[in-house]
Amino acid sequence: MFPEFTLRYARLPERFYLRFDPVAVKAPRLVAFNRPLAEQLGFDLAVFDERQAAEWFAGNTVPEGAEPLAQAYAGHQFGHFNPRLGDGRAVLLGEVTDREGRLRDIQLKGAGCTPFSRGADGRAPLGPVLREYLVSEAMFILGVPTTRALAAVTTGERVFRRVPEHGAVLTRVAASHLRVGTFQYFAAREDLDAVRTLADLAIERHYPHLLGPELADRQESERYLALVEAAQARQAALVAKWMGLGFIHGVMNTDNCSIAGETIDYGPCAFMEAYDPATVFSSIDEGGRYAYRNQPWIARWNLARFAETLLPLIDDDQERGVERATAVIEAFEGQYEAEWLAVMREKLGLEKEEEGDRVLVEAFLEAMQAGRADFTLAFRRLSEAVDEDAPALLELFEVREGIEEWLPRWRERLVREDVDRKAIAEQIRTVNPLYIPRNHKVEEALAAAAEGDFTYFETLREVLADPFTEQPGREAYALPAPPTEAVFRTFC
Ligand code: AMP
Ligand code: MG
Ligand code: MG
Repeated sequence: MFPEFTLRYARLPERFYLRFDPVAVKAPRLVAFNRPLAEQLGFDLAVFDERQAAEWFAGNTVPEGAEPLAQAYAGHQFGHFNPRLGDGRAVLLGEVTDREGRLRDIQLKGAGCTPFSRGADGRAPLGPVLREYLVSEAMFILGVPTTRALAAVTTGERVFRRVPEHGAVLTRVAASHLRVGTFQYFAAREDLDAVRTLADLAIERHYPHLLGPELADRQESERYLALVEAAQARQAALVAKWMGLGFIHGVMNTDNCSIAGETIDYGPCAFMEAYDPATVFSSIDEGGRYAYRNQPWIARWNLARFAETLLPLIDDDQERGVERATAVIEAFEGQYEAEWLAVMREKLGLEKEEEGDRVLVEAFLEAMQAGRADFTLAFRRLSEAVDEDAPALLELFEVREGIEEWLPRWRERLVREDVDRKAIAEQIRTVNPLYIPRNHKVEEALAAAAEGDFTYFETLREVLADPFTEQPGREAYALPAPPTEAVFRTFC
C-alpha cells in the first residue's frame, strides 16, 4: 500500500543527517487520515488497512524501502543563531513521487528522541498535532502553499507539557524540508561543498527552470544568485497570501522558512479576528517580533540570511558578492508590495489596476482597525455591499465613520470595472473565505479530542474543506469568538 520511496536525501553524504529509526509507541491508533492526499501520493487505498496504517504513521513499522533519518539544520531563533538544531522529534522516511510526478517528503513529527533532541522529549502532544492537521489543510484549500497533513495517530502514551497530554504523531508531507537553517548549518561550518550540494538539490527539486536553456550558458554563480531570487519571489507571494487571510505564523525563525516557499511548522499560529496589525498570539513571542505587520520584513530578513550562506558561490570577490546579493534582497520590498496589492485588489473585487488602489485598500484597513472589525468577515461581507450599505457588514464595525465614508469611494471605483455588480459580488465570495480555522473553534475541537471525542475535530475539518460556500446550520463557524471564548494567547 505504501508508495515506493526515492531516498533522495538519504543518498546525500552522511553529514547532512543522522540515520534514525522512529521510536515505537505503546498503542498506536489512527485518528485522522487524509484520503485525497494519500491517493495523490500514490497510496493504494483498495488495500487500506487501518491497523497497518496506524503502525506506519506511528513509526512502529518502517515501511519497506524507507531509510528514516533526522535532518541536520541550524537556525536563527528570535534573531539568535543556534548552529545546531536539527530534527529533534521528526523523522524523514524518504520521498515519494506523487501523481503529478513531483517528489514529496514524508515525515513523521513526534517520532521520538533523536540525536538532535537537546534534552527535549522528542514527542508531540495531540493538541498541536490536530492543530497542524486542521490549519495546514485549511491553508491548502485556501490556496496557500503549505506542507500537508497525511495522518494523525495517538500513541497511547502521555507527554508532559504544562499539563499531561495524550501523545500523538503527525505525518507531514512537504515539497521538501530544506530550510534557510539547513543552509546555515553548513555555512556556519564553512562547509562550502555541502552548501553547493544543498543549493543544487534545491534547484533540482524546486526551481528546475534555473537549469533550463536561458541560464545554461550563464555562469554557475549566476544560478546561485538566481536561486536566491526565485526563493525570494516565492516567499514574497507566500507572505502576501498570509496577510490576505489574517494569518499569523508565530515562529518565523530561519529554520521554519522553507526554501520551497511553503508555509511550514504550524506551532502557535493563528488567524486574526478584529483587525489590528500589531496582533501577536504566540506566548513565546514576547517582543512581538513575529507580529502580523512584521511578517514581510521578517521574511526578507530570513532571505538575507539565506543569501549570506551562498555568498562564496555567488562571487569569488566577497565584496562584489555582497553587493550583488544585496541588490537582490533589496528588491524584496517591491516584489512583496506588488504581491500584496494583487491579493488585496482581488479581495476588494477589483480586476483592473488603478493608481489609487493602494490608498483605497489602506483606507479600508484603517476603517477596519478603527472599528475593530473582524478581518475575515469584513472582506466577505463586502459582497453584500456592492450596491448599498449592508447592515451585516456595518454591524462588524464598532466605529462606523470610517467604513461609511469608505463604501461610496469603493463603489465609485467598482463602476470603472465594467463588470456587472452581481459578478463582482460573486467574485468577492470566491476569494474571501467565510470559514477560517478560528482559534476558539480549533481550541474547542482539541479540548474535545483530549477527552476522546473527535466529533468536533471531524466537523471542523468538514467545514474548513469548503471555506467559500455557505454551509447551512454552521453559522457559528463563520463568526468571531464570543468575548468569553476569545483566544489571546497560543502555545506550541
Ligand atoms: P520549532 O520551534 O518547532 O521550529 O523547533 C525548534 C527546534 O526544537 C527544532 O530543532 C525541533 O526539532 C526542536 N524541538 C521542538 N520540540 C521538540 C521536542 N518535543 N523534542 C525534541 N526536539 C524538539
Ligand atoms: Mg521548526
Ligand atoms: Mg514546531
